[in-house]
Amino acid sequence: MDSSVYMDFFARLAQETGDRKREFLELGRRAGRFPMASTSDGEISLWCSNDYLGMGQHPDVLDAMKRAVDEYGGGSGGSRNIGGTNHCHVDLERELADLHGKEDAVLFASGYSANEGSLSVLAGVIDDCQAFSDSANHASIIDGLRHSGARKHIFRHNDGQHLEELLAAVDPDRPKLVVLESVHSMRGDIAPLAEVAGLAKRYGAVTFLDEVHAVGMYGPQGAGIAARAGLDSEFTVVMGTLAKAFGMTGGYVAGPAVLMDAVRTHARSFIFTTALPPAVAAGALAAVRHLRRSDTERERLARNARLMHGLLRERGIPVLSDESHIVPVLVGEDRLCRRMSALLLARHGAYVQAIDAPSVPVGEEILRVAPSAVHEPGEIRRFVDALDGIWSELGAARRG
Ligand code: PMP
Repeated sequence: MDSSVYMDFFARLAQETGDRKREFLELGRRAGRFPMASTSDGEISLWCSNDYLGMGQHPDVLDAMKRAVDEYGGGSGGSRNIGGTNHCHVDLERELADLHGKEDAVLFASGYSANEGSLSVLAGVIDDCQAFSDSANHASIIDGLRHSGARKHIFRHNDGQHLEELLAAVDPDRPKLVVLESVHSMRGDIAPLAEVAGLAKRYGAVTFLDEVHAVGMYGPQGAGIAARAGLDSEFTVVMGTLAKAFGMTGGYVAGPAVLMDAVRTHARSFIFTTALPPAVAAGALAAVRHLRRSDTERERLARNARLMHGLLRERGIPVLSDESHIVPVLVGEDRLCRRMSALLLARHGAYVQAIDAPSVPVGEEILRVAPSAVHEPGEIRRFVDALDGIWSELGAARRG
């Protein structure tokens, strides 16, 4: 057999993939100009950025990064274990542990590797762990649990009753870990944290809460949804990203020192990779500190999310949920969704990515709109007008 068999397979796969092949819009984001960006066709506005608070452009953050580059140079020079640990990493870990009221925190190169690496340890190195995972959990959680080898019990999305049934069916003496997201990445809905915390206590489970779409944006000092509900101490491990509200890149877990030590010692995605550049950690630290002091960005984000949800409701444009700043406009058909996205960009210079499988189930294709703290109310009104016009033109279904 020659290599053409292999190459032919991928040629056929490309054909089958057709227009679902991923192509990326190339953006020139300019410091201080967010939510505007340039493309080869001119200037556009971003409606799907995860830099929800615009911290990736904040002067304090940029200054901290520049100072760190001058002081420490470019890359970190190694893995955390082998010469790559800088003061910036350690200071940031202390700050994040303090933000979440936990004993310790561990930084990773991304939120993806934080979930994958820490869950593969926290559910994997302990014998016979039973992992209870929300059916809509992020790929990084799924991969972490898969790599842990733990027995998985999948509960229906945000369904506490189903979680209880599954917990009750397991031998009470087995170690248990419940894993969920607070604000769901695609649906934007919020998990019933009080119910989950109560169940975890009743059934003796440890809890792992992904607050990727919440840290910096909700709760006192931006500590997240659990903190907003006064439940932060009920969740054993909080996981977050530096890549969304904090405007940088990187991920972390925060929790009891004994668990964080185990993660540091055993998590392969922590050990076998180069540490974040010090300037990235310094920028993230500046963002975390700023958002602990300032409510302005959070208030603007909440105002903008309320405005957009209200306008969409008035027009009967369906959304999957209206509980957070993630506005998942439900189109429910992949071609239609991509067409809407293309028309918004071509006619109105408004960029919102169409989201299809595997990020969402087939039939739940969405325009995942993310109004940021830096959009102006007038821009939000114009965006909804533009979407409304295209919605009518393409004959998409409205809410009754
Ligand atoms: N968890 C959730 C819920 C996410 O949505 C994402 C990314 N969108 C991640 C983890 C991974 O975070 P990062 O982008 O920092 O890798």
